[in-house]
Amino acid sequence: MDQIARRQFLQVGLATGAVVILSGCEGGGSKAASLPGPSWPSDTGRRVPEPRSASVPRSTPAAPAISVPQGVISRTEWTRAQPIRALADSMGRIDKVTIHHDGMTPFYSTGKSDAARRLESIRNSHVSKGWADIGYHYVIDPAGRVWQGRPISLQGAHVKDGNPGNLGIMVMGNFDSQSPTPAALGSLDQFVAAQMRQYRIPVRGVYTHQELRPTACPGRSLQSYMTMTRASNGRMARA
Ligand SMILES: [Zn+2]
Repeated sequence: MDQIARRQFLQVGLATGAVVILSGCEGGGSKAASLPGPSWPSDTGRRVPEPRSASVPRSTPAAPAISVPQGVISRTEWTRAQPIRALADSMGRIDKVTIHHDGMTPFYSTGKSDAARRLESIRNSHVSKGWADIGYHYVIDPAGRVWQGRPISLQGAHVKDGNPGNLGIMVMGNFDSQSPTPAALGSLDQFVAAQMRQYRIPVRGVYTHQELRPTACPGRSLQSYMTMTRASNGRMARA
């Protein structure tokens, strides 16, 4: 096959999760976890209806209440697992936001089921490190969907020694080797702005991972976008 066809073939392979190298935004060498077994409904490309709230199993009364902001896809859409409550601290007052990428293989798919699979593979990887759950509170996919990760009643696991009160928002992909989609950036600006309003966080309280810890996360292209959008005339600052 010619080079373009070959590249497309590789991209499709990567996008469908056929090849997922799990390293995570912490850059640690966590080992690859196997992909989850459950099959997901075929993707329709539409946003799901408002999540239900009665999804906490009766057997886990201590599990945090599942409540998600409007338009956010509930975690019950991508995992059957609950956070391991004993391994997580309470969030406390939210006073900052930190932006990440997943730092794995580049991810181009706008399919809902591909994003769901990637979320579960990240959760598996994080749980295998001894964490309570996926480390991030919200995740944005290339189509601009916003997914619920760890419930916000619990501290995340996304900035070493910096998780209390820190809302972790991850954009799927590796932005050292790809650029975020316009749809993902539009959602990121809107969603972060909504969190800033809700928790009264000024724009200077919105960080990227590398501004708090030595790491490549969230990758060069998302880092430069964040610098731009937080500037005084940027979309996030003005939202
Ligand atoms: Zn990160």
